[in-house]
Parts: sequence; C-alpha cells; structure tokens
Amino acid sequence: MAERSRRQLKKNQDLERILCLEKERARLRTVRKILKKPCESRTDEEAQILLDAPHLVSQIEGNSVRLKCLKDRAQEIIDEEDILSTKCAELVKAMKESSYTVVYTGAGISTSADIPDYRGPDGVWTLLQKGKEISLTDLSTAEPTFTHMALKKLHKERIIHHIVSQNCDGLHVRSGLPKSALSELHGNMFIEVCPKCKPLKQYIRLFDVTEKTSLHRHKTGRFCKKCNSELNDTIVHFGEKGTLPWPMNWKGAVKAVEKADLIICLGTSLKVLRRYPGLWRTDQPHNKRPKLYIVNLQWTPKDTQATLKIHGKCDDVMKKVMSVFGICVPAYEKEKDPIFQLATPLLLDEVSTTTKLLLTKSELDIKEIPSISSDSIESPEQAQNKLKAELENISNSQDLGDYLKSKPDLQPCIRLLDITSAESLIKLNAEKLDAITYFIKSEVAQIEKPKLMGWYGKGCAKWKKSNRKRASSCKRQKTEVVDSTL
Ligand SMILES: [Zn+2]
Repeated sequence: MAERSRRQLKKNQDLERILCLEKERARLRTVRKILKKPCESRTDEEAQILLDAPHLVSQIEGNSVRLKCLKDRAQEIIDEEDILSTKCAELVKAMKESSYTVVYTGAGISTSADIPDYRGPDGVWTLLQKGKEISLTDLSTAEPTFTHMALKKLHKERIIHHIVSQNCDGLHVRSGLPKSALSELHGNMFIEVCPKCKPLKQYIRLFDVTEKTSLHRHKTGRFCKKCNSELNDTIVHFGEKGTLPWPMNWKGAVKAVEKADLIICLGTSLKVLRRYPGLWRTDQPHNKRPKLYIVNLQWTPKDTQATLKIHGKCDDVMKKVMSVFGICVPAYEKEKDPIFQLATPLLLDEVSTTTKLLLTKSELDIKEIPSISSDSIESPEQAQNKLKAELENISNSQDLGDYLKSKPDLQPCIRLLDITSAESLIKLNAEKLDAITYFIKSEVAQIEKPKLMGWYGKGCAKWKKSNRKRASSCKRQKTEVVDSTL
C-alpha cells in the first residue's frame, strides 16, 4: 500500500513538473510574440506581461542577438575591386618579407572546380543543417583550380614552403606539388593504405576509393598485395582522429609551422583548423607567433588575430597576387597529372570493387565514352580481343602504331582502353590487357545514384547522428509524459 502511494506521489510530482514546464513554454511564446510588436502598439496588458517576466525578456533578447551574430558570420562578403587590389599588394609584400611561409587551404579553393564547400550558403554542411538534399557530383571529374596551380608555382619559386590542406579531393597532389611539401590532414580520396604493413604501404588509385566507407568504417574491399590485409581509405571524418603518417604528414606540418613567420589561410572557415593547437603556436607569446593573413568570404574565428583579412574568392585573390609577383601560372594539363604515374592499376579480380568513374589521360570526355562504345564495340571482351589479335600479329611497335592509325575502326578500342602510345601497347601482355579493361567494365557497370557515404559522409554522419539523438530524446520525453499521466 505504502509502495503504491509512493509511486503515485512520484507520478503526481512528474506530472506537475511537466505541466509547469509547459506553462513556462506558453509564457515564453506569449512574451516572444509581444516583443515582436513595436513598443507603441503594445497594449497595457501586454506591457505588464513583459514587466512581470524580465528573465524571459532578457533570454529572448539574448537569443536574438546571438542569432543575428550567427547570421552575420555566415554572410559572404566580397571586397570592392580597388580594396581587393590594395589588400593583395599588401599580401605580396608580406610574402616577400617572410622567410618561411605556410599556407592552410580549405574547401574554398576547390569551389571553382565545382566541389561544394562546407559552410558557404550552398555548402554541404549548411544544406544538411537545413535538412535540404545535397547534390552529389563525382569529385573525380574535378581538376586543379588556378589557386592549386598558383600554389604549386609559388612553392617551386620558394616563395611558399609548405601547404596544410583540409581537402580530401587530392587536387594539390594532382597539381604537381611534391608530397613532402603537403599535409593532407583529413586524407585523400584517391589513396588507400594497408593497416598492417610497416612502413605504411599506400595505394594511389585513379578513382574515388571512399565508395564503401563512412564514419568508423574505412575498409574499401580491396586487399594489400604484400600481406593481403583489407585496405583502408584515409579519410578523417568528424569525431575521428587522423593518425596515419601519410597523407596526413602531421610531422611535416608541425615542423613547418615552427619555422613559419607567415601563415596564409585560403578558403577555410578555420572552425576545424583552430582546434589543432600545433598549427597556431599557442604556447608562444603573441608577438612571437607567425603573422596571419586570411582569405575567406565568411567570418573566421581567427579574424581578430589576423594582420589582414581579405574578403575575396581564392582564384580572384591569387590571380591578383600572381600578377603583382609577375609570375605566370601554367594551366593544368591532364597529360602531366602526376597521379597517372603514381597510381596502382586494379587487377582483374578487383574490377568489381568499384563502380566509380576513372580518371583518364585521354582528352575524350568520360561522359562521351558509352556512346562511342555502343556504336563501335559490342562488349569490352570484343575490344580486348581485337587488340589482342593486333598484338599477336605485329611485333614491332613502330609498325603497330602505323597499323593502328590506318585502322579507324580500332581507334575507339584504343581510346576506350586509354592506351595512347603504340609502344606502351606492345609492352602489354595479355594479363595486363585484362587488367586495364576494368576501365570499360566500370563504364558499362550500372552507375547507381551515389549514397551519402565516403567523402560526403564527413558532414552527413554527424548530421544523421544529431537527428537520431534528437528523435530519440523526443521519443523518451513523450514516453515519460505518457508514463506519468498513467
Ligand atoms: Zn600490407
């Protein structure tokens, strides 16, 4: 009997607490509604309600100030043309005076390559927070931007010395920047590594290796040729720690920052980078830290510490900077993209592990290939057999080159297999020829709508998690209400 009354008492208390909370919420809503009205149109009764609830008034006013501040920070600002030019000249002066310059890059340097940024108005993170769908582009089709090429050139000229990037798009590597001058803190979508082999064994691929991976799931479905362990991607998602020596190269980054007297931040909100104390020499007094120049359209948490903040698009700023320096920036040439030399081709039994598009040296647009193949070649096997037959008949590479040129019907086969020189073709044995047909197979394979995995999972995983948490806490609250009203 006593037990029952105790339970009843607790239930009554809970119910009272919930009703009280509900009453407070209703009051908050009323106060908020009154505050939205201009002072002169409030009735005496409404004015009295405000006077009776000063804590609610200050809470609502505080919230609206915070909201406005957040909105202002998300605003993209672009400096006037003449201001931008003056600021760029100032940046060049600082670069000339500096003895060791480190550049931090973020998604903003890749937006002109049609890769969405994170926190811009149409950024992946912004859209996910609003619950909107994000458009998924295949990042393999992106190419290094003017900024990537300018940075590579500046490194070659020894004007900048190290680049720390948060981008996973691999475009710094593809611009030709040497590995030792780069720290890809959040990984590279073209690299998979063996978790067992020491020293670290990297496999650079010509396609996005993150197709099957997501938060805490890094296995790519391919295996190490040396120890047969399943390979991992190198992407560091929110809530994970990047511990791989490469491509993160934390050692190189920290060493560079220690020597630096100038840090230039390009197209990054710094919301993640600011959390890495090793990058800011926070253990030293302010006057001993490197000078900070920031190029970003939106607010960053380091703005107050910056010597100069430039509100401009990275490509626009870098074009001005390079013209002040008087340095010509070579355009990106696919033929010279180092990834083709660095990449490990897939073996025949690995072909089915990916449906992603492959990077090709060929000038031919990837999207055009299926139409050519359907017109001229019935199947990948047919293309392969045709070329095999040519290999058997002709032993001299010169002859083969001339012969292939004289046979227009074979051109689609060659282009499809991306064999550009006859010499490389003659070196191929049948097994290698088998292996390279994975290119055709992936083209022929049904390309499904990409799921929110891999590289994009970086933002989405966290968003989904927070949504799940919210949903479960709502459910819990509802259950509590039902329980207590029973
Ligand atoms: Zn291994």
